[in-house]
Amino acid sequence: MATLRLVILGRQGSGKGTQCARLMESFGPVHVSTGDMLRAAVATGTEFGRQAEAIMDAGELVPDEVMNGIVAERLSADDVVERGVLLDGYPRTPAQAEALQEALESAGTHLDLALNLEVPIEEATRRMLDRARADDTEEAILRRLALYETETAPLVAWFEKRSLLITVDGLGSEDEVFQRLRRAVEHTVRDLR
Ligand code: AMP
Repeated sequence: MATLRLVILGRQGSGKGTQCARLMESFGPVHVSTGDMLRAAVATGTEFGRQAEAIMDAGELVPDEVMNGIVAERLSADDVVERGVLLDGYPRTPAQAEALQEALESAGTHLDLALNLEVPIEEATRRMLDRARADDTEEAILRRLALYETETAPLVAWFEKRSLLITVDGLGSEDEVFQRLRRAVEHTVRDLR
C-alpha cells in the first residue's frame, strides 16, 4: 500500500478522533494527534507540561514555534517515515502549514491530502457542550470553536489553493461519514499510482 501523508481538519466535536482511528486501521498511517501529545506532556508534570496545561485549559493555542518543533521531530521518527502519517490537530494555523510543508520537503517528501471534516458550528457546539467534562468550561469550549474560525478555517483555503483539499460532510452516522472519508483517500491513493 502507498505510504500516505494526510492531514485531517475539523472542529472539536466533528467526530475527528473516531474517524482517525478508522482511517489508521484501513490505510495504515501513524495517527499523530498534537492534542494527545500535549496531554501526555501535561501528565508528566514537567515545566513545559505545566505551561501547555494553562494554555489548553484556557482554550488558547500553544505558540507555533513550539508546535512546529514538536511535530518536525515526530515526523522524523522511523514509524512515521515507514508507515506515513495522519496528522490530527496540526497544522492549526497557516504558519504551521508552511512549517509542515518545509519539514516534509526537507525530508524529500510531501503532503498527499488534507481532509476537511465539515460539521456546522452550531452542531459542533451542541456536541461539545453535551460531552463537556468538569474541567472543560463552556467558556473554553466557545473560545476553541471561535479560534477555529479565525486561525484554522483559513487553512482550508491554504490547502485548497494547493489542490490538496477534499471536504467531507461530517453529518450522518459514523459509518456514513467513514465511507465518505474512505472514498476520498482511495481517490488520492489511485492518483498516486
Ligand atoms: P485538540 O485535542 O486537538 O483539540 O487539542 C487540545 C488543545 O491542545 C488545543 O485546544 C490547543 O490548546 C492545544 N493544541 C493542540 N494542537 C495544537 C496546535 N497544532 N497548535 C497550537 N495548539 C495546539
